[in-house]
Amino acid sequence: MVEKINASDAMLKVMEAWGIDHIFGLPGGSFDSTMNALHNRQKTMRYIQVRHEEVGTLAAAGEAKVTGKIAAAFGSAGPGAVHLLNGLYDAKYDNVPMLALVGQVATNMMNTDYFQEMNENPMFADVAVYNRTVMTAAQMPAVVDQAIQQAYKHNGVAVVTIPTDLGWQAIDDNFEPTANLFQQGHYPLPRTTDITDALKLIKAAKHPIIYFGQGAKAAGQQIGALSEKLKMPMMSSALAKGIIADQNPAYMVSAGRVATKPGVDLAKTADLILFIGSNYEFGAYFFKPDAKFIQIDIDATKIGHRHHVDVGILADAKTALQALLDASQMVETPTDFYQAAMANKANWEDWKAGFTESDQVPMRVEPVFKAINEMANDDAIFNLDVGNVSIDGVRFLDMHPGQKMTLSAWYATMGCAVPAAIGTQTAFPDRQVWSISGDGGFTMVMQDIITQAKYQMPIINVVLSNDSFGFIEAEQDDKGQPHSGVAIQGADYGAVATALGAQGFTVHNLTELKTAFAAAKIAKGPVVIDVKIANERPLPVEQLVIDPETQDPQAVEAFIKKYHAQGLIPFRAILEQYEA
Ligand code: FAD
Repeated sequence: MVEKINASDAMLKVMEAWGIDHIFGLPGGSFDSTMNALHNRQKTMRYIQVRHEEVGTLAAAGEAKVTGKIAAAFGSAGPGAVHLLNGLYDAKYDNVPMLALVGQVATNMMNTDYFQEMNENPMFADVAVYNRTVMTAAQMPAVVDQAIQQAYKHNGVAVVTIPTDLGWQAIDDNFEPTANLFQQGHYPLPRTTDITDALKLIKAAKHPIIYFGQGAKAAGQQIGALSEKLKMPMMSSALAKGIIADQNPAYMVSAGRVATKPGVDLAKTADLILFIGSNYEFGAYFFKPDAKFIQIDIDATKIGHRHHVDVGILADAKTALQALLDASQMVETPTDFYQAAMANKANWEDWKAGFTESDQVPMRVEPVFKAINEMANDDAIFNLDVGNVSIDGVRFLDMHPGQKMTLSAWYATMGCAVPAAIGTQTAFPDRQVWSISGDGGFTMVMQDIITQAKYQMPIINVVLSNDSFGFIEAEQDDKGQPHSGVAIQGADYGAVATALGAQGFTVHNLTELKTAFAAAKIAKGPVVIDVKIANERPLPVEQLVIDPETQDPQAVEAFIKKYHAQGLIPFRAILEQYEA
């Protein structure tokens, strides 16, 4: 005789079989049957209560970005469902698997214009790789099992809508989840001819570089080894920061606006790009159109998507890089270009270091990042928000491969950092977790500091407050338009955080900064450090005006003065010196 179980409990059992042991969300009447199951199964499935459904999905997205495993969130019918969307899009855009459970009114009320009732499936059609409403209680475990398979298969979002009455019904407790059978990650091996052709092109190039993205996250060791062996300087997408240590003298970080000067210089100078596991969308602005291009990706549709390709290698990054390493000859003497790239990076590092002790009030951001870097553990997880703080984080965090960073990289939703910190701290309770936001992003989600306080999550939340939507202010400046709608009302976020149950600090100068970080170091629960920074635009490395030989000397003088760019040497001059 088969045992009976409530359909919602059976559904949670399937999720547990796939390794999901917690879920973020906010209850509603249409989600009662699942809330009942969450109560029943609290020993094996932890419910994390957030204060806005968007925070729940952004927390799950952040978690999945760091673990690579599926994460789960829920919302109830109507408004709860609508609130889920932002985090679902973040997961979709950054290619991570997520399961969203969505409440629905009881089946006898569906399609009757009932309270909070809506046709939910069309709303999720664009965001989801799997999007179904359960039709019978008996099928609930199977539908969720399929949903998780599809989320993993497509690295995307699976949505399961559950009419609340179905979850209460007793069904046979005999469903066998497919979790143990599911396989992924078998990629074609690189073709020998492609490896030979790629190495020939690299050998013939004068300024060859390695460019990698997050698809190469398991191949950091091979990237570093190939760079050293072939004397090719490295750079990456902003999102791939951390795969190679920032301190590696041959790694220039990224090109673009969320970028560094050596990154932009390298991209613009390269005559050959070995492009690995990236879909970097701004390449057209920075890479030479006629640069030779070797692309490694596991997705055939990505090869040639961003640049003309001379050699396309359909393979896993690590395997393809190992093949290149095995088939290549060591370049013994560092090339002039390789040395010039490293000299350029050293010049950039010296320039940055000139600001770390700045006692300017309102503060510069460099002393704040110095304090973060000094306090960061070897396995710290940094959750960066969207805006000027993305630029600052990518430039000033001193990361190495043991650490991780999340960002709403493609979807670029503000307010992603505090939720992602909740998600990553839940997944890794023993690691040090940071959220680093601007005041714009922080105020979109700051109510969920209560969540951090409720669960006593020892998250260090740093807020860089300049009373401006600074990233957009800079865009308005570039268009020559008046500032419109970008000034924002400030507040004492340290005091707000204290009122919400965290340890809050409001910092105006170096002394207060030291006090706040010293307290954060020994805190057992959440800390919010609101640093009042100057509303100064980060150095626009994407449009540098620092070379009097090729640019208008008066414009150069004005630019250097405005951005304190004294000491930055044009890469043209460095390269000429080495290649003379
Ligand atoms: P994805 O876009 O996720 O691409 C990964 C690629 O790897 C895919 O093609 C995938 O098929 C492939 N792949 C996956 N697994 C493997 C494997 N095992 N082997 C081989 N291939 C694999 N970024 C910048 O660099 N510069 C900027 O100026 C910039 N500006 C930004 C501004 C803002 C406000 C924000 C929020 C973000 C910004 N970003 C910037 C981030 C940027 O938008 C992109 O999201 C990010 O750089 C893309 O990273 P990616 O190419 O590494 O990852």
